[in-house]
Amino acid sequence: MNYEPIVGLEVHIQSKTKSKMFCSCSAEYFGSKPNTHTCPVCLGLPGALPVPNGPALDLCIKTALALNCEISKETKFDRKNYFYPDLPKGYQISQYDQPVGHGGYLEIKLPDGKKKKIGITRVHQEEDTGKSMHEGNQTLLDFNKSGVPLIEIVSEPEMSSVEEISAYAKEMHRLVRYLEVSDGDMEKGQMRFELNLSLKKPGDEGLPDYKVEVKNIGSISVLEKVFETEYKRQSELLDNGETPVQETRGLVDMSGKTVSQRGKEGEADYRYFPEPDIPPIEFSNEKIEDIRDTLPEMPLEKERRYVKDLKIDREIAETIVNDVKLARFFEAAVEKVDSELAIEVAKWIAGDYTALINDGELDSENVKPEHISSLVNLVSENKITGKTAKKVLKKCFETGKSPTEIVKNEGLEQVSDESKIKEIAQKVIKDNPKAVEDVKKNPNAIMFLVGQVMKEMKGKADPQTTRKLLESMI
Ligand code: ZN
Ligand code: MN
Repeated sequence: MNYEPIVGLEVHIQSKTKSKMFCSCSAEYFGSKPNTHTCPVCLGLPGALPVPNGPALDLCIKTALALNCEISKETKFDRKNYFYPDLPKGYQISQYDQPVGHGGYLEIKLPDGKKKKIGITRVHQEEDTGKSMHEGNQTLLDFNKSGVPLIEIVSEPEMSSVEEISAYAKEMHRLVRYLEVSDGDMEKGQMRFELNLSLKKPGDEGLPDYKVEVKNIGSISVLEKVFETEYKRQSELLDNGETPVQETRGLVDMSGKTVSQRGKEGEADYRYFPEPDIPPIEFSNEKIEDIRDTLPEMPLEKERRYVKDLKIDREIAETIVNDVKLARFFEAAVEKVDSELAIEVAKWIAGDYTALINDGELDSENVKPEHISSLVNLVSENKITGKTAKKVLKKCFETGKSPTEIVKNEGLEQVSDESKIKEIAQKVIKDNPKAVEDVKKNPNAIMFLVGQVMKEMKGKADPQTTRKLLESMI
């Protein structure tokens, strides 16, 4: 049978803060020697007192506001009790009934261009756990990650296809990078997903009476695979007249295969209760509004503006917006050209500029946004040809000199001076009698001669003037 998937996602994001969530240990632990970023608080030693990290909470509020959530005026922390070797306290400090934000949505864009709003149930602040490493028959523990601020974003079960899941995960990733809440680097574990999936018979009302959760998915491609394998597994059970067990499953490997870990605990199993060491926290309206004022233009809004106002090709706009650094670079470059040239700036940036950076051999720092503006201006003022511009950009990467300087130093200015072009054209006509005969039969064959003149003049001849001159001379 073809079942309808009901999917909700939980996303955990490590926020970019200097120190950990409840102590002053440095949160920038990646690549450090194990257990060098620890103290009694994040090691869970008895009697150590947690103190909430204010800037981390601000980032949590910022995320919740960007997701159109309502912010709780009063929030508090709760203990979520469970045993894990890398959780020395025996509980995680999280939030239960008063999350920082609730009741929002994220707008996503599907491959066919359609938009959909996915409800956000809640956004709350918690702390990361330590890390277990299994070597042979022993397990080693590293507590550098323990206590790193973690924002959890829970969606409503409103996704129903792999395209929607993927679009949601990608939009969330772009969003936290735009907000500068996190680098969202999945290879470093800065963004992790949990998939909640159940299947419904076509035409059935309400939600299915079971739910399977797959934990700790570290990349979007694995998330897609987990959905596919889990959909298949549950369909087969339902086809056989069985109901999938409500449970938590874990990844076996990167293929998306999962294995049962434990029967899904209900909230009661966690015995949530208020964290007695941290008093409730109040957020003033003023604080919330101050944070709202820092929200940048969101990626989807930006894409819409590029396409609608700047008339940029949809695909090019997407390429630029996908990379927050590229988008900032583009906007700085656009400031220095006439608005109708924004399209050209976008083409250069998404095209040759990106290609040269991806080459990896050139120093990307050498090219500044204003270099791209001046390149576009030089072409639009007919001072250099498009072909020369490509050479100039490469030189710019190699030397860090401005396009204007490069053009001047190397005498690359386009020649529109007819007498000079005429001189070369005469020579080309004389040297290519066969091509001249061809032009008399097929006017398009003139492009060969235009090419020869360009070649003689090292790409500096204005192609249009050249063509006109040649036509008048044959
Ligand atoms: Zn610490
Ligand atoms: Mn969590």
